[in-house]
Amino acid sequence: MESVKEFMAEVVRKNPGELEFHQAVEEVAESIAPFLKKNPQYNEANIIERMIVPERVVIFRVPWIDDNQKIQINVGYRIEMSSAIGPYKGGLRFHPSVNLGILKFLAFEQVFKNSLTTLPLGGGKGGSDFDPKGKSDMEVMKFCQSFMSELFRHIGENTDVPAGDIGVGSREIGYMFGQYKRLKNEFTGVLTGKGVNWGGSLIRPEATGYGCVYFVHEMLKTRGEDFGGKICTVSGAGNVAQYTFEKLLELGAKVVTLSDSNGFIHKPEGLTVEDLRFVMELKNIKRGRISDCAKALKGCKYYKGKRPWAVPCDIAFPSATQNEIDEKDAKTLVKNGCFAIGEGANMPTIPDAVKVFQEARILYAPGKAANAGGVSTSGLEMSQNSIRTAWTREEVDRKLRQIKINIHESCVQYGKQKDGYINYVAGANIAGFVKVADAMLDQGVV
Ligand code: NDP
Repeated sequence: MESVKEFMAEVVRKNPGELEFHQAVEEVAESIAPFLKKNPQYNEANIIERMIVPERVVIFRVPWIDDNQKIQINVGYRIEMSSAIGPYKGGLRFHPSVNLGILKFLAFEQVFKNSLTTLPLGGGKGGSDFDPKGKSDMEVMKFCQSFMSELFRHIGENTDVPAGDIGVGSREIGYMFGQYKRLKNEFTGVLTGKGVNWGGSLIRPEATGYGCVYFVHEMLKTRGEDFGGKICTVSGAGNVAQYTFEKLLELGAKVVTLSDSNGFIHKPEGLTVEDLRFVMELKNIKRGRISDCAKALKGCKYYKGKRPWAVPCDIAFPSATQNEIDEKDAKTLVKNGCFAIGEGANMPTIPDAVKVFQEARILYAPGKAANAGGVSTSGLEMSQNSIRTAWTREEVDRKLRQIKINIHESCVQYGKQKDGYINYVAGANIAGFVKVADAMLDQGVV
């Protein structure tokens, strides 16, 4: 890559219409450009040009029969982006918005994130435009079985190990694991996020949210701060948001918002542990809407069709989906005194909004670094499966915490600017790049 502009023109030409993929690649290209100039061996081997092309993409038909005996058709995908440092690893997303471009952006980011964890994990991502919302358990099972009836050929404990993401939680992982086992006649660690009594790891459900809070804790320490009494806004109400909320309460912060795709709730005096239990049952078992909290939880107000970024806070945790903070939201957050952002979601902040945060010199943790706790603990689940053991909750949590501390150190190593400001975006992208790039140099032109 000689110039980011020319490089991006080629990326856009060769991947037409894949806007989220362009956005993710451009962020990395801009971050690593100065590093590539100083280290010409990577450009000589066309490393970044190779990294943006998936090693393999599988697209397949997923037919299934709904409760009314009607045939439904969805599209299934698996992007096997990079196996330079380990088997492909990354979640499956079930959401109507899923398309090739969104999964390529997620798979590309996953390569850098997995590299940052220091574990031997390559990068991948997959999913389907199937929407689990409003479907019966039986319909979800039929879909998952049909999805796995094709996917099973392409994955394996040493090849590609998927996990959950939006719309894929323990229920979906269970149905997919059951079908894989039936088709292959073997019990292996082919998926992570499994139930603890059938090969799962303790702390895996909590890991992305806990890990995000651990990372922000490290950032706060650089400014002599901690979570005590800090007002936090959280978006989303799914896996990542719930455990971010739980850990924040444990560390003495006040969580005042949660959201879903229809709106957000605000409780100025702070949501409680009892409120969290209510939300967990509402979202994970009853599969209800966040608006139900306004009726059930005292002091809670619901804002339909809005996101929580105008609520004044010290720290914000976008934990729902991509591009949920725009430039205006970022300016509002900064104006209201927000001084740290921990991205639980992948790429929740649009590039112009990232600039607002960085120009304001606030602590900004990009998803790659902040939410890597999920895949790290998936890596720990793979290790436990391989040696056929189960570590205690404390042991897994201790390892997770150490990994997040290490990721923070790598970001500081590569991202500290001359004026002392830590550019976590540059730090995460360069640190993630180096390990994969060096492996590619070692392994030749493959
Ligand atoms: P869940 O499906 O458990 O929850 C997703 C939450 O985000 C729900 O509250 C959902 O609301 C909301 N949401 C989804 N799409 C939109 C949208 N278009 N606009 C507004 N809100 C939306 O997913 P996770 O918690 O697992 O994932 C959340 C984010 O974290 C994603 O970006 C994911 O890629 C990322 N992530 C997840 C990891 C994991 O281990 N699970 C690991 C690393 C990153 P609704 O119910 O209305 O759809």
